[in-house]
Amino acid sequence: MTATFIDGTKIAEDIKREVAAELESLQRRGVQPGLAVVLVGDDAASSSYVNMKAKTCEQLGIYSRKVTIPSSVTTRQLLAEVRKLNEDDSIDGILVQLPLPQHVAKHAILEGVDPKKDVDGFHSANVGSLLLGHETLVACTPLGVMELLRRSGVKLEGLNAAVLGRSDDVGKPQAVLLMHANATVTICHSKTRNLPHITRQADIVVAAIGKTAMVTRDWIKPGAVVIDVGTNKVSDRAEVQRLFGNDEARLKDFEKRGYIWAGDVDERSVKDVASMMTPVPGGVGPMTIAVLMKNTIKAARMRRGL
Ligand code: NAP
Repeated sequence: MTATFIDGTKIAEDIKREVAAELESLQRRGVQPGLAVVLVGDDAASSSYVNMKAKTCEQLGIYSRKVTIPSSVTTRQLLAEVRKLNEDDSIDGILVQLPLPQHVAKHAILEGVDPKKDVDGFHSANVGSLLLGHETLVACTPLGVMELLRRSGVKLEGLNAAVLGRSDDVGKPQAVLLMHANATVTICHSKTRNLPHITRQADIVVAAIGKTAMVTRDWIKPGAVVIDVGTNKVSDRAEVQRLFGNDEARLKDFEKRGYIWAGDVDERSVKDVASMMTPVPGGVGPMTIAVLMKNTIKAARMRRGL
């Protein structure tokens, strides 16, 4: 069997087109949704993510504001900035780019965001609502995975799903979303014993552990659907070749940038047993921003009772 690759870039473009259409209808009613992205410090990767988010807002016509704050900020000062955005009526969505500097209390900041504007779905009120199955703002990456599965025609009801990783931003919400879609979910983590035995029972495997190519073909039941959330930087040429052989596109990419992105799934071996899988890059990654845009529109509607 050779797996069909799920084209996350294309699905993300479809979602963005839908968002643009919804935005137009909101604008006709006099509503201009706005997203504020808070960037603390000058980490290059965070800065590039924030710029991509702002650029996508611009493309779609969502008002966006980048709030840049020096890394010396205290928790109290950052909370004050977040509260200003909570009070600002032109802002529907607030995203605090992670990671925050060590000395800032991340939990306090995430809890400081008005849950109605929490487009990242990280506030405990939204996490609680998700668990209860209420309509709410849900974390973008796991919601993006659900969209990928739905739009690829995967019927989840009654399937066994293994979620690898139990982080607050991916693994936990992912498991809850799959459970609400009537899959039977096993949540795995670093203390799980005999992981491959568990994943081999699964019809769907979602890998979100941050370990390059850890999931290999012997972990996967023939015909399973494999979603790779992992985004791991590979900066060693020999490692690129070990993972992808003489894949010209990847080697070219490596020569150009000095690194490439690889997932938690060993693509070369798993594609021979899975029925469908996501590539890295071009799978889950592009969905995260598209869903962020969708969440911003949703927040704008919910806040106004539309
Ligand atoms: P995280 O907070 O570091 O959590 C990693 C999870 O994996 C933890 O629950 C950890 O278990 C588990 N884990 C680590 N090593 C393991 C092992 N050897 N076996 C089994 N479980 C193991 O990471 P995250 O934020 O969830 O992100 C996971 C990956 O997804 C990263 O590569 C990240 O870059 C990527 N990501 C991608 C996107 C996207 O848009 N594409 C978005 C978010 C994250 P413990 O809880 O026991 O420590």
